[in-house]
Amino acid sequence: MIFKTVSPKETQKLAADLARKVAKSKPQKHACVFALEGELGAGKTTFIQGFAKALKIKQKITSPTFVLMRHYKLGTGNWKLLVHVDAFRLKDWRDLASLGIKDIFADPGNIVLIEWAERVRPILPKKHTKIHIDHLEKNTRKITIISPNGLSQ
Ligand code: ADP
Ligand code: MG
Repeated sequence: MIFKTVSPKETQKLAADLARKVAKSKPQKHACVFALEGELGAGKTTFIQGFAKALKIKQKITSPTFVLMRHYKLGTGNWKLLVHVDAFRLKDWRDLASLGIKDIFADPGNIVLIEWAERVRPILPKKHTKIHIDHLEKNTRKITIISPNGLSQ
């Protein structure tokens, strides 16, 4: 599915709608993984802020610049943890492997959102939702969501 948003708020609303769908969906065998791609300033963090807010996460989500990964507790049904990864500063996907990402991917109670996912492609689970954000104009973004389990409908 392709969406066009004309403000950060609209991007956050799109993300919130997606988050609510995920929260309602039945957990699978593994974590629910979102691979976010797009240049610096595209809106990946903005998207994740909207997503997290819809799941009642109260903390302000920022890009984990020095910390590669942040965990937020979820209190919704079967979901336990939202994990926010920013691979921008990562030199090698193997560095993410050494942080225990495989265990995080293996837990069906986790929702994992990864910024700069193209940098860690070899380690991504096969079944993940891709979110590609293109910067069209100052406040306009094209957001392409490709989901293996119909989440983008
Ligand atoms: P990234 O994490 O991809 O580097 P950020 O989310 O940190 O990007 O930054 C996106 C910037 O673009 C923010 O300053 C945000 O306010 C701005 N922006 C303007 N229009 C939009 C839009 N339609 N969607 C998302 N962000 C937008
Ligand atoms: Mg970011």
